[in-house]
Amino acid sequence: MLCARIHDYQKPLVVEDIPRPSNTNGEAVLVKVGAAGLCHSDLHLINGEWKDAIPLALPKTPGHENAGWVEEIGDTVPEGLFSKGDLVAIFGGWGCGICKFCKSGDEQLCVAPRWPGLSQLDGGYSEYILVPSYRFLVKVGKKGGLVPEELAPLTDAGLTPYRAIKKVRHMLGPGTSIAVIGMGGLGSYGIQYAKILAPNSTVIAVDRNDKKLSLAKNFGADRTVNSATTKSIRQEVLQLTEGIGVDVVLDTVGAENTINDSVRMLAKGGALVVVGLFGGQIKVPLLQAVVNEYQVIASLWGNYNELREVIELASQRKIKHAYHSYSLKQINQAIDQLRQGSIIGRAVIVP
Ligand code: NAD
Ligand code: ZN
Ligand code: ZN
Repeated sequence: MLCARIHDYQKPLVVEDIPRPSNTNGEAVLVKVGAAGLCHSDLHLINGEWKDAIPLALPKTPGHENAGWVEEIGDTVPEGLFSKGDLVAIFGGWGCGICKFCKSGDEQLCVAPRWPGLSQLDGGYSEYILVPSYRFLVKVGKKGGLVPEELAPLTDAGLTPYRAIKKVRHMLGPGTSIAVIGMGGLGSYGIQYAKILAPNSTVIAVDRNDKKLSLAKNFGADRTVNSATTKSIRQEVLQLTEGIGVDVVLDTVGAENTINDSVRMLAKGGALVVVGLFGGQIKVPLLQAVVNEYQVIASLWGNYNELREVIELASQRKIKHAYHSYSLKQINQAIDQLRQGSIIGRAVIVP
């Protein structure tokens, strides 16, 4: 089967033919990949930024946003649950199943995670992916006419901001506002969840790219701010919020400058929710944080039930998608474009 693998960090992926997994035993399911989303986390991984935190034996196939069709079913998968050809979304938080986090349903927080394409297990930039348990599959079938190119990004880009905003939706009643920083893969879903989960709150999209901001407008943002061209992001946000600031910032970039921007636009009692992993430190001035009772909340991916919820929203056509398809052979072109910031929405690899 054709796949794209990291052989060396900071080098293009190598597109090559390797044997298809032959061990669909026990609970495992072999899935024929229909689409695999290209996440900025893949870029951090390929750049080698995470090589100490997540040591990988190379070569390794990345790809943790996957959807496709059931191809082979292990002998202990309960009968009748899945059939060959079923369209499935692959939940990526492959957990041990027995730790405190897994048992409470948050398998993405497992103490011994095996995330596809981000751990020793191979991901979906490949014609087939071996999923170690049927428990990580969400059967979609013909629901809403969803296609793999829409489903794959939902397993991460369309899941992470959903969980993040659910954590603060109680703060977002009438007369409040939320800013979402970064209108890339995650952010373009983030503003939509802000509208769905907090319909009476004003949603402000922030990016430094006008094309991404106009996508945000199409996807429901009430206001947009270009953080690269504004004279003062704080002044602009204060103007949009009657001098109050925003009650919530969802930072899907997570860089020191966006954290600084976030703190400068928060209202008293506001919450900064960080999901982006561009890197650096989260620095918040202590006096200001305490006096204003700021909250800083981190959020990781989403759990299986949250994935089911976003797939339900998508199947009711309540979520819009912006994706651009690339073949496996074009994967390095997609990676370069992501690196340059020129992808509007999500790049998906269609093997
Ligand atoms: P992306 O490249 O698709 O989008 C990033 C967006 O941020 C782009 O639109 C870019 O123009 C914008 N941007 C970059 N720097 C900016 C700045 N200083 N000010 C304003 N806008 C800026 O990336 P993505 O796939 O959406 O991922 C975003 C981040 O989230 C990555 O760091 C990724 O690793 C991380 N991530 C975290 C989780 C989690 O569970 N917490 C899950 C998935 C991805
Ligand atoms: Zn990701
Ligand atoms: Zn676990």
